[in-house]
Amino acid sequence: MNYFLYLKKIIMIKKIKVQKRISNRTYPSKLCKKEGCYSEFIPTDGRQVYCCSQHRIDSNNDKRKIVDKFESEFKIKAKQNRFVLKKINESAFYKNEKRVSKNLLIYEGYEFPIYHKKVIDKKINREILVCYEYGLILVDTNKKLYEIVILENIK
Ligand SMILES: [Zn+2]
Repeated sequence: MNYFLYLKKIIMIKKIKVQKRISNRTYPSKLCKKEGCYSEFIPTDGRQVYCCSQHRIDSNNDKRKIVDKFESEFKIKAKQNRFVLKKINESAFYKNEKRVSKNLLIYEGYEFPIYHKKVIDKKINREILVCYEYGLILVDTNKKLYEIVILENIK
């Protein structure tokens, strides 16, 4: 091979390499986001976060499971709260007192962070923690006393 042809060949190879780089645009390597995988991969798309499609599917299933688990745990606790409110509301003690202490609620298994929504009753300017058809209203801040209301009865 003469020198001229040799040079021409090298230039051709270089051109092919450059063209290839432009057409197959590469992204910086990333770590797979699937829990427990952490393989390094080169994305073929800038938004790719998993090393392979199986890990994308697995990861989305895991996320769904976490959401389902959270929802079912919430439901169990909300039902428990409803049970406690019903039990106290129907007790002779509550019918007489019309108030229940925070301690008794907690003792019976009521969980304050669990409620469906918070509503402000504008008439009395108090917050109502709504759990199913029950509402719990703090009526005495110092003594931490609550009133239980059945919401259908308010409206
Ligand atoms: Zn992976």
